Amino acid sequence: MAERQPIANRYALNRRVLVTGGAGFLGSHLCDRLIERGDEVLCVDNFFTGSRTNVAHLLDHPRFELMRHDVTFPLFVEVDEIYNLACPASPVQYQHDPVQTTKTSVVGSINMLGLAKRLRIPILQASTSEIYGDPDVHPQTETYWGNVNPIGPRSCYDEGKRCAETLFFDYRRQHDMNVKVVRIFNTYGPRMHLNDGRVVSNFILQALRGDDLTIFGKGDQSRSFCYVGDLIEGMMRMMDTPPDVSGPVNIGNEDEFTMLELAEAVIALTGSRSKIAHLALPQDDPRRRCPDTTRARELLDWKATTKLREGLEETIDYFRQFA
Ligand code: NAD
Ligand code: UDP
Ligand code: UDP
Repeated sequence: MAERQPIANRYALNRRVLVTGGAGFLGSHLCDRLIERGDEVLCVDNFFTGSRTNVAHLLDHPRFELMRHDVTFPLFVEVDEIYNLACPASPVQYQHDPVQTTKTSVVGSINMLGLAKRLRIPILQASTSEIYGDPDVHPQTETYWGNVNPIGPRSCYDEGKRCAETLFFDYRRQHDMNVKVVRIFNTYGPRMHLNDGRVVSNFILQALRGDDLTIFGKGDQSRSFCYVGDLIEGMMRMMDTPPDVSGPVNIGNEDEFTMLELAEAVIALTGSRSKIAHLALPQDDPRRRCPDTTRARELLDWKATTKLREGLEETIDYFRQFA
């Protein structure tokens, strides 16, 4: 693929980076890191699940700009790179308006790809381990095609993200574009939503408040939890790869825990007297999920290094203000 000078970069001193979904959990951490690195950041968000609070500390920064915009509508701006993170990510939130969720992934990706095509700039898609659905292969490698229900309650997210990946690779083939796709596995850390029903935030708040920790099902289902700092590092390394590297690349932590083990760790770290309560398992809840991150190690020289205990301590500290 020919290396071309991005149009917007020709006269600008700093790299200008567009982060869609930049006021969300992951997006706001990405904005922080880009600003720290010296970039100009254009944060675009419709505040569906994100909030100005997440980027409040950046609002007065001379290299930071916040724009309220829904990516399902066209966007005409001049930037040098795009990180496309816009999309609600937790089951409770993405099922609230499932049609809008699919639109955000599909129409939003088309608009951001159209923008990247016009400007001839790299674009990175925040894809997800949900691409693999309830996997038959364990741990999941990028070559596994997945086991996804196309018509269930999680489909608006899973199939939307799968279609987005299709679009990214078709824009690459059809328009010779520099696209990057990372498949993010469960990530946690400060600025996670308080009430979005995800397991780490639920358990921490429940433990801090002395409420029962709600385990869905027996608690023997597994997840691997990546600390947000590790994830952002992996994403930025992916953006900086040469144009022939598109992925998809799994980004996640390879340490796998059952929900019972997670609950016990949270109770121990908070010193809580909370007990465990078992509730019904939601439909289509994947039994196991753990990334094979060989490709990330080879292509990005990246591996998650934050241990669950360490990351949970940081996250618990953040959540104390809300308990
Ligand atoms: P989040 O909900 O905190 O962030 C998503 C952001 O996108 C929010 O600020 C929201 O307001 C914004 N948004 C939603 N629809 C939009 C639209 N139509 N136009 C503009 N902005 C819109 O979630 P997150 O955890 O930060 O996830 C960020 C991205 O990473 C998502 O694309 C998600 O699918 C992906 N991801 C996250 C995880 C995880 O564990 N956190 C795992 C896999 C993939
Ligand atoms: N688009 C955008 N900003 C741009 C360029 C394009 O939002 O700077 C949108 C545009 O509205 C279009 C979509 O991206 O709907 C896809 O653009 P593309 O050029 O691929 O397709 P076309 O314009 O031919 O439909
Ligand atoms: N879960 C749980 N208790 C909760 C919230 C979630 O046991 O209060 C379980 C959920 O059923 C799933 C796992 O924790 O098996 C991870 O759920 P989450 O919604 O955080 O992420 P995802 O299902 O998207 O991996």
